[in-house]
Amino acid sequence: MIKVAKFGGSSVADAAQFKRVKDIVEADSSRRVVVVSAAGKRFSEDHKMTDLLYLCHAHLVYGVSCEPIFRDIERRFCEIRDELGLDINIEADFDDLWEKMDKDMSVDFLVSRGEYFTSRLMASFLGYKFLDASDCIFSDYNGAFDMEKIEAAIKEALQKYHKVVIPGFYSALPSGKIKIMSRGGSDITGALAAAACNADVYENWTDVSGILMADPRIVKNPKPIEKITYAELRELASMGASVLHEESILPVKEKGIPLNIRNTNKPEHPGTMIVETIEKESEKKGRFLTGIAGRKNFEILSLRKHNLDNNSDLRKVLEILENHKIAIEHISLGLDSFSLVFAKSSVESILYDVISEIQKILKPDNIDIQENISLVAAVGRKMTFRPGISGLIFNALGEAKVNIRTIAQGSDELSIVVGVDNSQFDTTVRVLYEGFAG
Ligand code: ASP
Repeated sequence: MIKVAKFGGSSVADAAQFKRVKDIVEADSSRRVVVVSAAGKRFSEDHKMTDLLYLCHAHLVYGVSCEPIFRDIERRFCEIRDELGLDINIEADFDDLWEKMDKDMSVDFLVSRGEYFTSRLMASFLGYKFLDASDCIFSDYNGAFDMEKIEAAIKEALQKYHKVVIPGFYSALPSGKIKIMSRGGSDITGALAAAACNADVYENWTDVSGILMADPRIVKNPKPIEKITYAELRELASMGASVLHEESILPVKEKGIPLNIRNTNKPEHPGTMIVETIEKESEKKGRFLTGIAGRKNFEILSLRKHNLDNNSDLRKVLEILENHKIAIEHISLGLDSFSLVFAKSSVESILYDVISEIQKILKPDNIDIQENISLVAAVGRKMTFRPGISGLIFNALGEAKVNIRTIAQGSDELSIVVGVDNSQFDTTVRVLYEGFAG
């Protein structure tokens, strides 16, 4: 049995959090690969190491001294080291780094030092081997990962050292130079490491007890989701539920490795388990909704034309939208009419150009734009084989006087999406949660 445990920034923010991590890791000897982010915020007004390092680089670029920030970062690492009684000469490493700091310093290298130093401290504290990401996570210049090389390097290291700590968030380019990933990228490192060693589970330790069934800013104390499939998670994530870096899903999903989201501050909580499929038997009971997510500020473009040619007229409109790089969220098609939903942000300054192009090419009888629309998705694999679900949902929303402006159901019946006025967004989420999830 082998588990890869990735700890996010808040889980390694200070010495007290390091101790929690150690307790978790030592509680299960199969946690042989530990991936860490850079130390994050200790309290809400605090700064993440990664942000401070970006700030240092900006100072370098503009020729302003970044020494106070740089020494602050050094001090934070030294504090963790001293409180944990570790023997690492951080000062010497920081003096070395300071020597190299000039306006040509690579932002990738500098910013990656957050993960680098946090991991070195963690490896020493756990008594694990420090395995630099530059020696085991390989990518090309476009950011594509070389899975074969990653697998070989991680397997070899595990054989040699048995237990390793890997810094998240960066990889080595073919030139050997360091490349950072997009923000939150340590999730990807963890997923790559889990795929490379064929882990039994990829644990992602953070500061919440799993994925919540609804946004806690809208619903009071929403329950965490116990089990969810990768497909459901994708539906929720695309509608704004953010837990994991999107690119961290694929490496583990492809290998059928379950992903467990856990809370470092409540290790006894089982968190959320994300899996490829769930046994049919357990599916027959319980609530049919897995989660609710939504986003505000969409627009609906509705077009009416007598004798509309569904195929060719729709194709022409889609072509116009594609040329303007407008991503369509939903399409509904009726006799002589169709409507398209897209994000307001994608049409902000070009909407009237787009409409006049459509008018010129299609000569419709009417084009109408509805603004300030929110999309709310009710997601649940169990909706697939239960009749009457949409009736229940629409009934509950109707009773709460929510005016549904558009409806879409994914073809795999995993989700029902309703479009409502922005002003009814919170009510819609609450009605769905209270009626079907709470
Ligand atoms: N430290 C990086 C960030 O703040 C990467 C990560 O935490 O995963 O985005």
